[in-house]
Amino acid sequence: MNVLQKAVEGNRLTPTEALDILKNAPWTQVAEAANTVRHRINPGNKVGYTAFRIVNYTNVCEITCSFCSFCRPAHSSEAYVLSLDEIRQKTIEAKAKGADQIFLQGGVNKDIPLSYYTDVLNMLTQEMGVKVRGFSPVELVRIAEFNGITLDELLDIFKAAGLSSVPGAGAEILSDRMRQMLSPKKLPAQQWCDTLAACHKKGLPGSANIVFGSIETPEEIIEHLDYVRKTQDIAHGFKSFVVWTFQPQTDKFPIRHVRGDEYLKLLALTRLYFDNIPHIEVSLLGMGLSLGELGLHSGADDINSIVIEENVLQNHGLTTIEQAEEFIKNAGFTPYHRSLNFD
Ligand code: SF4
Repeated sequence: MNVLQKAVEGNRLTPTEALDILKNAPWTQVAEAANTVRHRINPGNKVGYTAFRIVNYTNVCEITCSFCSFCRPAHSSEAYVLSLDEIRQKTIEAKAKGADQIFLQGGVNKDIPLSYYTDVLNMLTQEMGVKVRGFSPVELVRIAEFNGITLDELLDIFKAAGLSSVPGAGAEILSDRMRQMLSPKKLPAQQWCDTLAACHKKGLPGSANIVFGSIETPEEIIEHLDYVRKTQDIAHGFKSFVVWTFQPQTDKFPIRHVRGDEYLKLLALTRLYFDNIPHIEVSLLGMGLSLGELGLHSGADDINSIVIEENVLQNHGLTTIEQAEEFIKNAGFTPYHRSLNFD
């Protein structure tokens, strides 16, 4: 397709062209074009990985996404908020396995005081010496609201306490039709983008992702990619992009099987579409190691993180730094251990 050649030559694809590729191009041609672009944007043969532990500091969440099996109401007997000591202990365990970064992720819990967050951030960065990525856009927006301060004020407070990165979490599909079905209480698509742009302008970069494999349309997938690319044009804080698939957690919303070629085609298309995002990560957890290896030849130059937390998807992951390096070498690349922000 001429339009694939256009991207290979470094020209920006329009949303209409991207939709044409998604709907009509053979996946092998998209993957080949993306592999060429990957080697132009990231010359050399390196593939990155990182080692962080996700710490879910609370499971109380008022957002109640239809796909989430993790959240609990505040009155539930299973509700928890981790103490500083519990988070310290998890961090010590993670460091023993080679992690140098903690990924703080919670529910949206209005009963947690602002001082809890700053105490946790100070403890992790000052006492434990780890870097911290944390807080999805909806967490940040609600924490600011609960405390009667602006988002900018909250970001200043969190940054001063040690936060160095924010995940582009909670994106799922940036289409308001899909968000109404998946998570009506989450931020609308544009507010998700605006919140991350505010973070990036404050010097808190991160990543972005898409989670697909429900009843989203090809048009909504391209809409999602375009929201992310426009945000990146404004604030330049997305260091990488990850393609995930929905994993079965609840029976409250539809999930379909995503074929391997479908996954690789979208992964490759993201490499072609994001002329302004340096790295593309392949999801080993969702799609498995064999497909992950193919992903590294279809536009991706990173395998995300080794799995340190116990996880229902662990069988598809890599659990040690040695395994990650061996996997990358066996795929034909040179591994390197990167930081969360690729700096
Ligand atoms: S915001 Fe996160 S924790 Fe809360 S319900 Fe949604 S996915 Fe679950």
